[in-house]
Amino acid sequence: MIVTRFAPSPTGRLHLGHAYSAILAHDAARRDDGRFLLRIEDIDGTRSRPEHIETILADLAWLGLEWDGAVVRQSDRLPAYADALERLRALGLLYRCYCTRAEIAAASLSAPHGAEPLYPGTCRTLAMAHPDRPHCWRLDMARAAALAGPLHWTDHGQRITADPLAAGDVVLARKDAPASYHLAVTVDDAWQGVTDIVRGQDLFAATHVHRLLQALLDLPTPRYHHHALLTGPDGSRLAKRHGAPALADMREEGADGLALAMNLRAGRVPIGAADP
Ligand code: GLU
Repeated sequence: MIVTRFAPSPTGRLHLGHAYSAILAHDAARRDDGRFLLRIEDIDGTRSRPEHIETILADLAWLGLEWDGAVVRQSDRLPAYADALERLRALGLLYRCYCTRAEIAAASLSAPHGAEPLYPGTCRTLAMAHPDRPHCWRLDMARAAALAGPLHWTDHGQRITADPLAAGDVVLARKDAPASYHLAVTVDDAWQGVTDIVRGQDLFAATHVHRLLQALLDLPTPRYHHHALLTGPDGSRLAKRHGAPALADMREEGADGLALAMNLRAGRVPIGAADP
């Protein structure tokens, strides 16, 4: 049975791009008599807001999207992430990093495609641990990739070779966020039995890291379906500057959510002010 999910972060309000992603994941499950799950990715305690969760649930109902089972909140799942982290630590794949963001920005090689700067590995070989100094935990990517060996996944049925080294030594936990997005998403997709991950192309690069974590943690690999992102009238990725309102604004103004969902399915996207 197909199991898909929508996994928004309650750090702001949903926009058309989120609606599109949720609809694709929902429809993929419904077409196959499968399950469509909702997971709230609220591990970032400093940026997540409870009021956004209520708004997200109301937005999805307005679009006519019903999810199966209870809503999972990542803030309830911290022990599972701690276990996964411990496992990676026991494999000797994690190290403490004491660098500040400014230090990393100054020392780092610039990452391809304008992504986050690649971590230059400053703390990887430190002889002494300083548990009392503020630190995060990074994955020793070269060692992890060597341990896992060659990895692949399928995206729209096509075989993709994972290249986790391109992401550098990613952060897997911080003091204020006990698990990073990469770790939490990988652990939860497996725990929830997600078979098919439908999400935007902007997360394609992250999948190289997720595939590696699956291998290291002995978790199954779902099928992936990264979809194209909605674009504004100028052809660039749809953003606030295109005048696209939040779903909540449209809902409160009395717009028809079911009609909007049908338009998104049909590729007719009402962008808002810039494209009435
Ligand atoms: N929580 C992530 C976001 O809102 C999406 C996670 C995922 O689909 O893997 O961007």
